[in-house]
Amino acid sequence: MAKKHCIVIGSGILGASVAWYLTQTGADVTIFESEQAGGRATRDSWAWINASWGNPEPYFRLRQRSMYEWQNLSARVPGVRLDRCGGLIWDLPPDQLEAFAQEHGSWGYELERVDSARALQIEPGIKQPPAFALYMPQEGKVEPLEAALALLADAQKSGARLHVNTPVTSLLHSGGCVTGVRTRDAVLVADEVVIAAGIGSVALLQGLGLHYDTTAPPGLLVHTKPTRPLLKTLLMTPELHVRQTSEGRLVAGADFVGNMDGTPPDAQAADLLNKIKARVAGSEDLEMDYYTVGLRPTPGDGFPMVGRPKNTKGLYLVLSHSGITLAPALGLFTTQELIEGMRDPLLGNYHPDRLQQPAA
Ligand SMILES: Cc1cc2nc3c(=O)[nH]c(=O)nc-3n(C[C@H](O)[C@H](O)[C@H](O)COP(=O)(O)OP(=O)(O)OC[C@H]3O[C@@H](n4cnc5c(N)ncnc54)[C@H](O)[C@@H]3O)c2cc1C
Repeated sequence: MAKKHCIVIGSGILGASVAWYLTQTGADVTIFESEQAGGRATRDSWAWINASWGNPEPYFRLRQRSMYEWQNLSARVPGVRLDRCGGLIWDLPPDQLEAFAQEHGSWGYELERVDSARALQIEPGIKQPPAFALYMPQEGKVEPLEAALALLADAQKSGARLHVNTPVTSLLHSGGCVTGVRTRDAVLVADEVVIAAGIGSVALLQGLGLHYDTTAPPGLLVHTKPTRPLLKTLLMTPELHVRQTSEGRLVAGADFVGNMDGTPPDAQAADLLNKIKARVAGSEDLEMDYYTVGLRPTPGDGFPMVGRPKNTKGLYLVLSHSGITLAPALGLFTTQELIEGMRDPLLGNYHPDRLQQPAA
């Protein structure tokens, strides 16, 4: 059978994952990236890999599968370093934390109820240990830009071509099919075009007259200067989430849903730094190095959008929040659908068209 030529638009964690899985099937892959390699939201991400919190069971199952696929990727792709450091969570009131433990525990999510003594045993680096928390030993992190670049490098070793600083300006289409892409200088035809362009996906779809309910809530993260090892786990506390990167920086955010509440970012960042110092032992003299404000590409209902928009031949969309957690599963399932025509049941209800909107 002739090799399929697939174009992937976007080289963030989702595009990188799709491109990598496609190359593993022998597909001929071309990646276009409008800026530098590695993504926009991806480089500004906190990168907690988890199936925690108030998720409906089908979404929990998809996330859990992706956690498993991260292990596969880290075993197979040089430079993808999954750190299953565990998550320690007490950012909900105790009754809600217990309800979450009961529900996710009954679904088979590995978790331990801990008191303050046990919390300190797991994470000696916390000040004011909680009276009640949950410890999820399977949760972890990657350094997101490093992981995306590692996937892209390995895809290139398998023959993928990556064009950076090359925005796709429009999609070629005729007779209801997408047949390729246009850049400033060239036209390239392909069997399949995968849009994994984060918030840039919206404009590409609009060029085809397709409108979807998506948002891009901002999220601020403070990065301290690198320091000695202070934290082993990811901490989700009522006032912040914080972890330590592989190069020793503490990285903290305050809000997972992207409420910036109008306070100037400088003031929010300074406040977060104080919260880090109040929570992490040994961080009292730490200085902020920089902060980022990233935009999270987010489908209107919060769940992934994966599939052929309006059943258009030659076109596929992968747009998701929690894209770090979900990248391996969405890359794998996209590839299976494009190459084998098989849609994984875990993609169940996540077809993009549920969020289609009339033209404005
Ligand atoms: C503050 C913050 C915290 C987060 N925390 C977590 C977390 O803890 N866990 C988790 O799982 N997720 C988290 N996320 C979400 C996660 O980072 C994103 O879901 C994920 O990075 C999205 O990846 P992506 O590849 O779709 O997008 P991006 O990384 O934005 O990549 C899209 C790429 O497409 C390119 N592009 C756009 N338009 C075009 C075009 N026309 N032609 C060519 N290229 C184009 C862009 O330049 C960009 O490089 C967080 C995000 C933020 C901002």
